[in-house]
Amino acid sequence: MSDNVFPPELPVFSVLSLVRTNGEVVVTGDFDRSDGVREGRAILYRPGGASVDGELTALVGLKATIVVDPYYVDRITVGSRWPYFDGFWQPEFVEAVLDPSTRWVRVRLVPHDAIEYRISERSGPSEGVIEEGEDLPVGARAIRRIPNGFDRVTCHICDRKIGPKFLPFAFRREQDVGGRNSFGIWLCEDDYHNFVERRSAAFLL
Ligand SMILES: [Zn+2]
Repeated sequence: MSDNVFPPELPVFSVLSLVRTNGEVVVTGDFDRSDGVREGRAILYRPGGASVDGELTALVGLKATIVVDPYYVDRITVGSRWPYFDGFWQPEFVEAVLDPSTRWVRVRLVPHDAIEYRISERSGPSEGVIEEGEDLPVGARAIRRIPNGFDRVTCHICDRKIGPKFLPFAFRREQDVGGRNSFGIWLCEDDYHNFVERRSAAFLL
C-alpha cells in the first residue's frame, strides 16, 4: 500500500524503533496528527488482512508507544508508516467500507422469525431473543417462536435501528443479502452515502 492510497482522514503513525521484550514487541513512533488518537486498543491499518493489532500504552504529544504481539513483528519495520484507528473498529469492516471492489446493495429489511430463550442462572433467569437459525447462547433453552419477531438490526456505524418501524431501507454487502438478518454488515443510508460512496474513513475519528 503506497502512501497515496492511505485513507486521507486517518492519522499516520511512523515507526521509529522496535524492541522485543518478554513476549511483546514495543513499538515507538510519531503520529503526524492527533485526530482520534487515544490510549487503548489500536489498529495499524493495511488492507488484505495485513493490519497490526496492538495496545497504545503511552501518548505524549504526537509520540506514542504501541505494544504488539510478536506474531506481528515481521509486518513492522523501522521507518514504515501506518494509518491508525481505534481498535473499537474491526479492520475487516473498515476495509469493506473503503474498498471500491465491495459490492453494496440497497435493501429493505424483511422481518424473520425470532426465538425467545431463557437462561437459568443462580442469580435468576434471564431472557433474550435471537433470529431463528442462530445458535442459542450457552446454557439457553428455547421458549417459543415469535413470527416475524426479528424485525430490526442496527447500523454498524451509528447504531440507529433499521427495520420496518425504523429506517426501512439500508445497505448490505451483496454477499450478505438473502441470508439471516443477524449476519453481516448493515449500514443506514446516510452512512452509506457519507462514507462508502465517498470512500471516507472519517467515521473512525
Ligand atoms: Zn448509520
